[in-house]
Amino acid sequence: MEHKNQVFDNVLDLVGSTPLIKLNKITSQLNGDFYAKVEAFNPGHSSKDRIALYILEQAEKQGFLKPGDTIIETTSGNTGFSIAMVSIIKGYNCILAVSSKSSADKIDMLRTMGAKVYICPANVSADDPRSYYEVAKKLHEEIKGSVYINQYFNKLNIDAHYKSTGPEIWEQTAGKITHLVACSGTGGTISGTAKYLKEQNPNIQILGVDAFGSVLKKYHETKEFDEKEIYPYRIEGLGKNLIPTATDFDVIDEFIKVTDAESAHTARHIAKTEGLFVGYTSGAAMQAVLQLGADNRFSEKDVVVVIFPDHGSRYMSKIYSDKWMTEQGFFDSVNKKTVQNIEYIK
Ligand code: PMP
Repeated sequence: MEHKNQVFDNVLDLVGSTPLIKLNKITSQLNGDFYAKVEAFNPGHSSKDRIALYILEQAEKQGFLKPGDTIIETTSGNTGFSIAMVSIIKGYNCILAVSSKSSADKIDMLRTMGAKVYICPANVSADDPRSYYEVAKKLHEEIKGSVYINQYFNKLNIDAHYKSTGPEIWEQTAGKITHLVACSGTGGTISGTAKYLKEQNPNIQILGVDAFGSVLKKYHETKEFDEKEIYPYRIEGLGKNLIPTATDFDVIDEFIKVTDAESAHTARHIAKTEGLFVGYTSGAAMQAVLQLGADNRFSEKDVVVVIFPDHGSRYMSKIYSDKWMTEQGFFDSVNKKTVQNIEYIK
């Protein structure tokens, strides 16, 4: 392993250069070779470390930031954790405006990492002054020298992956990659990685993973923002109810939709087959691979890379809790039937 026996100046030196790990059992029935880019190996346990570090370093280079300044973002998820981590090392204040829907565990985690957390009501519209978007904007206006990361609309989110995730995968597969399968939330991961890979080889197929209840797939196919596509779903970090400018739809060849139930079961299956304890969207990305495989979309010579964005420990009270799975109806006979690929991958 690359990092073995090395000593590091601080935790940020460990951001990026995550391993590419061959999948041996879960894909055994499919044609081709399959590898997972396991982003849980970042020190903050997710791909968001890359964008937090990159965006703040760019702001420093451009002279926007000096120690003691404030970083603001609207997230209780991985991005919040990563920004808090980078802020500690670099000496910034970190303010996160989060929805009141966020779990107490998540809020405790962010506070443990030194962030100041504003809890904003979940059931108000985005333009309500109490919403976390408006609270973040107002804080940004009021706090001199503050930087608002705004990951869904920040092009640096794409650049971070163009400069790191893309080249890493190209090098790790020795240029042999034929397909990339990645979840799309802000779209930064898939867009930046795809842009780099397509520059090396335009034939690489870029397959985005979207949720039922999200607008991304339909927008990609029709350029129409269809509000009728929007309804609540369980997977966090995947899909969206708006069109992020951090997504470059032109570099994505196709979107595949996955269900909450199948993605949850597939995440659990990854742990049991590959010994990799990964998050809900890793299950979603793997589920997309299995659906594509069942449609005979891969051939013997293909080298497929699937991105696993974060670690399973963040989902103990969700997909790794039998109680939660039962409450969602994910063990019901109806869902058992829809979880068609579980049979297939046994
Ligand atoms: N998985 C998880 C767990 C995430 O938090 C995110 C980020 N929203 C994604 C996948 C999608 O990554 P991106 O925002 O780069 O599209």
